[in-house]
Amino acid sequence: MKKGTIISCLLLLSLSQSFFAEDKKEKMLYKEANAPIEKRINDLVSRMTLEEKVYQLNQLLVGNNDNTNNVGETVKKVPAEIGSLIYFGYDPIFRNSVQRHAMEESRLGIPILFGYDVIHGFRTIYPISLGQACSWNPELVKQSCAVAAQEARISGVDWTFSPMIDVARDPRWGRVAEGYGEDPYTNAVFAVASVQGYQGNDLSNTKNIAACLKHYVGYGASEGGRDYVYSEISKQTLWNTYLPPFEAGVKAGAATLMSAFNDISGVPASSNHYTLTEVLKEKWGHDGFVVSDWDAVKQLIRQGVAGTKKEATLKAFEAGVTMDMNDRCYLQYLAELVNEGVIPIEKIDDAVRRVLRVKFRLGLFDNPYTQVKSEKERYLRPEHLRTIEKLVEESIVLLKNEKTRLPLTSKMRLAVIGPMAKNKEHLLGSWSAFGKSEDVVSIYEGLESEFKNSNLLYAEGCDFDGNDTSHFAEATKISQGADILLICLGEKKTWSGENGSKSIALPQIQENLLLELKKLGKPIVLILSNGRPLELNRIEPACDAIVEIWQPGVNGGRPLAGILSGRINPSGKLAMTFPYSTGQIPIYYNMRQSARKNKGGYLDTPNTPLYEFTHGLSYTTFQYDELKASQLKVKRGEKLVVEVLVTNTGTRDGAETVHWFISDPVCSISRPIKELKYFEKQFIKTGETKLFRFEVDLDRDFGYVDETGKRVLESGEYYISVNEKNIVVELVD
Ligand code: BGC
Repeated sequence: MKKGTIISCLLLLSLSQSFFAEDKKEKMLYKEANAPIEKRINDLVSRMTLEEKVYQLNQLLVGNNDNTNNVGETVKKVPAEIGSLIYFGYDPIFRNSVQRHAMEESRLGIPILFGYDVIHGFRTIYPISLGQACSWNPELVKQSCAVAAQEARISGVDWTFSPMIDVARDPRWGRVAEGYGEDPYTNAVFAVASVQGYQGNDLSNTKNIAACLKHYVGYGASEGGRDYVYSEISKQTLWNTYLPPFEAGVKAGAATLMSAFNDISGVPASSNHYTLTEVLKEKWGHDGFVVSDWDAVKQLIRQGVAGTKKEATLKAFEAGVTMDMNDRCYLQYLAELVNEGVIPIEKIDDAVRRVLRVKFRLGLFDNPYTQVKSEKERYLRPEHLRTIEKLVEESIVLLKNEKTRLPLTSKMRLAVIGPMAKNKEHLLGSWSAFGKSEDVVSIYEGLESEFKNSNLLYAEGCDFDGNDTSHFAEATKISQGADILLICLGEKKTWSGENGSKSIALPQIQENLLLELKKLGKPIVLILSNGRPLELNRIEPACDAIVEIWQPGVNGGRPLAGILSGRINPSGKLAMTFPYSTGQIPIYYNMRQSARKNKGGYLDTPNTPLYEFTHGLSYTTFQYDELKASQLKVKRGEKLVVEVLVTNTGTRDGAETVHWFISDPVCSISRPIKELKYFEKQFIKTGETKLFRFEVDLDRDFGYVDETGKRVLESGEYYISVNEKNIVVELVD
């Protein structure tokens, strides 16, 4: 070969090599930030081994009980290929070290998805969801979830196991604290608000995190309010009561869902092909993924549908659970099941795609690490505290106010009594992430700063429970020197939340303290902080006023004090019924009516609850006009608008929530006495009149869903009601 030819051959070779190298680089498409996500996913999946795929479908823990002084030790324990970790930490440096391990030590450099239970705040803790719902202000809830998202993401959490949208009608169930009450529509509205708050418009924005709708589905129907037990749910009830919040959350774009611990009439929710695949993926088209609840795959054995962990793996995976939380069943058996030809690889690929899709949407491939900022920059920012203070204000419910005892406008001596008065820890509530009691404004502190000119006296009186009455005497003595008694009772934060089922009465010692002080004949304002509706019938008659503050988080003290002083006019209304007694349970507003008029109740218990769904008092009065409908006969497909004018007839400005209910007295299925279909809250100045408008969508609002999931709209008369007013509209064919 001539020299010239050799040179040109070498040149060609080197050119083609660099061309191929470029080509090779080009083909690492999944690393190209600008390539379409679906193409990046396909590219990545095509490069993965079965083992790598299986890792993506598992979630393990990090940070819990780990030695945080030796990050290296912890990092080494984490498989670099793992799909997700529950991250019990808030230190971005620690989190970034674990992430670096995945990015740099695994063959393909797939980022880990860090999840955590950010339920009502990360460090800036706001009210439990049950309290949030009582605000009837989804916009404020959305803003508060955005605060939580921002604090979480900047601490290394990309994904929250929230919102919990389990409709729940048994207040003995500790987890009622975590949901938005007893009504499907309310849960649906707040599901949407929280998904929007957590996720924003763009998951890759480092202020946003992925949401997880839980517990899919029917967990709130747990028998007798006990946790982890059977639940009997007909298809009719599934479609009309338990699925609507999830459907709304999926439509709002929730990235993930969590499969529940309960059964749905004999088929566990975590091995339920109908709900997980036929409804969620096929009917609603959800393209994110489902994580099992903690150990829920393994628990299929105890639920009696699998004999071994391998069988449990097959059942959960085939039903549609994408990722296995904690119990390592998928890690141990998925590959084996594929190699044996039991699970087709295409199904594994579909599951892996779902997990990767969420990671790509979060921008984790392109921005795997968390910014490192000081705690001061991250948490309890003044603007965030203002947002959540407003939410607390609106979530507080004035349950009773006899002889307008409140607000306390004149200067007086106030005795602040009870175990909740100075307590900080329990105001945080269950699942309070990285909330710290030192951040909390207690009830006493709130009162101190509000009532600067009043004399504040204090006695604890008794503990939250137990039999020690030895401090009753001191409480009595202190109270003797007061004009009015503010008695602060309630529940410890561990008395609600997961595995927190209990009777709904306050411990006897707390009731006895109040009844003892009643003997002094002074006016009593009862202040309650708790995670569920309570049975109050023994103490309610002794109280002049009752204020429910729920578990308000870091700032319950100031808004409560503002309500007591009259600086704030209360506007919260109950999202869950307060039964008169435990024996009435289940009791909720949207029950079916008894087949016999005025019959079917108990002989020894009232048949109405102590405080109904939507009950809540204001310091002003609102007068409702008659309802006006755009037409009284309406045809399918037509628009119907119903309006009501509400006037503030009292002496204070205030906010009023109008709840719009429908009733269908004659239908092919028996329907609830009334069903909430819309609500709206408006601020109305004294003397002012505001218009509230309900644009009825006939299919959505008059119709129901049959047991196959099909919407049905029947002709006939429908009642639309607000407050005590109603109007009848006929749907004609
Ligand atoms: C709870 C879930 C929670 C999960 C992870 C489970 O025990 O039921 O609600 O998200 O643990 O902490």
